[in-house]
Amino acid sequence: MSTPGPRLVLATRNAGKLKELRELLRGRIEGLDVDTQVIDAEAAGVPDVPETGVTFEENSLLKARAVAEATGLPAIADDSGLAVDVLGGAPGIFSARWSGAHGNDQANLDLLLAQLADIGSEHRGAAFICAAALAVPGGEEVVERGELRGALLTAPRGTGGFGYDPILQPAGETRSCAELTGAEKNAISHRGQAFRALLPAVIRVLDGSAGAEPRVN
Ligand code: IMP
Repeated sequence: MSTPGPRLVLATRNAGKLKELRELLRGRIEGLDVDTQVIDAEAAGVPDVPETGVTFEENSLLKARAVAEATGLPAIADDSGLAVDVLGGAPGIFSARWSGAHGNDQANLDLLLAQLADIGSEHRGAAFICAAALAVPGGEEVVERGELRGALLTAPRGTGGFGYDPILQPAGETRSCAELTGAEKNAISHRGQAFRALLPAVIRVLDGSAGAEPRVN
């Protein structure tokens, strides 16, 4: 029996996100083997997509659309970040490159903590925001949004997760996001909410994709 080919591409190269997205999809779609049939942008050989949009929604759609067109497969992408109340929603779409270098989580977190050093606990509200997009080659596009509100700690706590997880304490929690298990975080997170909202569209598209002919090597 031949090995079933890939059916869905995750349009991201962020290892932390890939792990979360795979877990969010696991067991949710009948007949879809998440380990072999869901591939990431790197495995699909798709070059990085410039994030030229100015909203989470625009950027998630840009990424999903580009990867769907390049691979001939349905693609899902997210764009996410941290919106800090006293910074008027920044770093927002610039979260991954707040300190300059793209994806330097430690430098981004250190800079943000230093910027907020004088801000008291009553004004440290913030939210993780995520837009999750599905794009089908030459066809349908869907985008959904999720938000996880909380407060910023004054020092990092915990070793799990990625990015700003060690400094965001979700509302009603005593732990930072980096102290939650992966499953606990997914259950409440911005990414979990956005992808759960997107799931019906993904299921609908994959149910009708049995005969699709991907251009993935
Ligand atoms: P993106 O790859 O452009 O979506 O950038 C997302 C950036 O926002 C990441 O590099 C992190 O800095 C931050 N971020 C997004 N989601 C999370 C999360 O769940 N935990 C911690 N940081 C996050």
